[in-house]
Amino acid sequence: MRKYFIAGNWKMNGSVDLLNKMHNALSELPVQGSNVTAGVFTPFIFVQHAAEIFKASPIVVGAQDCHWMSSGAFTGEISPTMLIEIGATHVILGHSEIRRDQGDSDSRIGEKAAAALNAGLTPIICVGESLAERNSDSTIRIVTQQLDEIIKASTKPLTNSVLAYEPIWAIGTGLAATPDQVQEVHSAIKEHLFDNHNLQLLVLYGGSVTAANAGEIFACPSVDGALVGGASLKPTEFSGIVLSAISAAQR
Ligand code: PEP
Repeated sequence: MRKYFIAGNWKMNGSVDLLNKMHNALSELPVQGSNVTAGVFTPFIFVQHAAEIFKASPIVVGAQDCHWMSSGAFTGEISPTMLIEIGATHVILGHSEIRRDQGDSDSRIGEKAAAALNAGLTPIICVGESLAERNSDSTIRIVTQQLDEIIKASTKPLTNSVLAYEPIWAIGTGLAATPDQVQEVHSAIKEHLFDNHNLQLLVLYGGSVTAANAGEIFACPSVDGALVGGASLKPTEFSGIVLSAISAAQR
């Protein structure tokens, strides 16, 4: 039976009301024992509340970033140990919006991954190419270079991590990569990780995943789930994606 992971990245959206609605919608699904892990990744301010709401459910809770140190003079920052203390189990790292807005480099992402793993969080590490890089046929080279840099900078083996392939041009555009494009990159990533780093990780696809296209994406042999942005803010839509993973896991 294949395993799938569905992560909902709320970005700077959501509310306590949405958490309650999401909890109600996800409670209806047969997630327990399904080989599917589903999680909500809220803004920092809602993480503790989310952890309380989902405490008795199989849904995991995470944040969208963390610092590379466990404490210190870093005004405005949140450390991985703090996230653990308030009930998070996972953290997204290297999202293209954080690379763009906060200048995170691959080596910084590797440092954050090591800190997250040391604290006991599972990082979901994002890589992906720009449209210009795809158009110049550099996708595989760019993505494997990102991975190599991240792995080199992490002082901890990434064995207990999850990866997300997120082509930047597909994020929030409504233009998901085609299943063939996704499969090509995922299989290249898996081969590269195994051959060069002796790593076998779940690789999620992210970029305009909806309940309507999730089934064909999850049918790709090298796709292990999805990192979902916009659709993770709509309880019915997100539930549809999780349900699609539950069906795919049964095949
Ligand atoms: C994301 O934010 O990681 C993402 C994939 O967004 P969307 O699903 O909206 O494209």
